[in-house]
Amino acid sequence: MEKIQKINLSFGKDHLAIPGPSNIPQRVLQAMNQPSPNIYGEEIIDTTQKVMSGIKDFANTSGSVIIYISNGHGVWEATLVNLFKEGDKILLCCNGHFGHKWGKIAKKLKLKIEYLDVGFSEAIDPGKIEAILKKDRKQEIKGVLTTYTDTSSSGKNNVKEFKNAINLANHGALLIIDCIASFGCERIEMDPWGIDVLITASQKGLMTPPGLGYCIISENVKENINNYKSSNKIISPYWDWHPRLNPERFYEIFSGTPPTNLLIGQLEALKMLNEEGRENVFLRHKILSGMVWTCIEHLGSDGNALELNIKKIKERSNAVTTVFSKGFDFTKTREWISEQGGVDLGIGLGFTSLELLGGKSVFRIGHMGHLNPHMILGVLSLLEAGLTMNKIPHRSGGVTAANNFMLKMIKQ
Ligand SMILES: *Cc1c(COP(=O)(O)O)cnc(C)c1O
Repeated sequence: MEKIQKINLSFGKDHLAIPGPSNIPQRVLQAMNQPSPNIYGEEIIDTTQKVMSGIKDFANTSGSVIIYISNGHGVWEATLVNLFKEGDKILLCCNGHFGHKWGKIAKKLKLKIEYLDVGFSEAIDPGKIEAILKKDRKQEIKGVLTTYTDTSSSGKNNVKEFKNAINLANHGALLIIDCIASFGCERIEMDPWGIDVLITASQKGLMTPPGLGYCIISENVKENINNYKSSNKIISPYWDWHPRLNPERFYEIFSGTPPTNLLIGQLEALKMLNEEGRENVFLRHKILSGMVWTCIEHLGSDGNALELNIKKIKERSNAVTTVFSKGFDFTKTREWISEQGGVDLGIGLGFTSLELLGGKSVFRIGHMGHLNPHMILGVLSLLEAGLTMNKIPHRSGGVTAANNFMLKMIKQ
């Protein structure tokens, strides 16, 4: 018999537990697996319209959807160039790495940025937004920008209260929310919450490969955009909202060839969200993320050092969880989990402190999109095994704790 030098158990389906791109459902892959439809035919027009209305419905808005062939960075930039001009001031609220990345783009576009930066472990207080806007007597701040979930810290902002803060300050700033990590995972009610512009992308909760970026704009903003031609803004033509919102020909919606098979995949994913039902989508993510938190809290209890980055439950994202263990390097553990377990965990992003070994003590678990208990329990179980393998101190029984949490939630 052949002698095995080193056992390898990784044969089987790999699972991405990074916070995007997320797992693509077989149904979406299958739908995409066909020749491209004719870009001059009715079918692609129909698919595009259905994707737009599916996104709109999920956002709960009567506004309009603009689709770019881009990732999240594309719609970050698109939003800035369409709404502001050089020298305009914005208030950028940051609770992690991603807000700052958006700020880098704004800076290159020569916007003036006021930062409301709360670090990596808490959410933005709407009261602070109100206070800043109240001081802005000349109404120089044109927009309040924030991530709903910051994917690095896994902190969630209470964006439901942000428009109220703007109104309490009697201020005219637009409210612009980056929903890239949380769309399709976390409750979002664009019109009822007074969000002016919401951006997202296909590859996270929307369960489709990267490549589609969305700007969802309220009716008010659309009216302003249609008037802006009289202003002296310079918007590079590909990113310009105006022709995309008022196309004379179908191709103007995409400023060229439409992303045919991505749209077909996205439509299938939207059908799946629709079949499940919006409320169930939110509840499922809530329970799955609760299982992750219960497991980590158990593993870290009894004096062990494993910790959730975000301490307050209501400030935790239902799409991604950031975990750390001060002084322990997770690199080998992540590698072992990937090689033997077929599960890829996310790396720490933006953490630089020495006690977190420059970020090596941090990892992230993505729990967004196409996910059920067996998938998340597989991730948690491999995590627990990886900790044991690599002698990272923890209290055993995390997976059982996660299961018990699930049962408790289902029985409610
Ligand atoms: C993923 C993500 C982005 C960036 O998206 P890319 O597709 O990588 O450009 C921006 N904001 C948030 C909140 C994200 O989660």
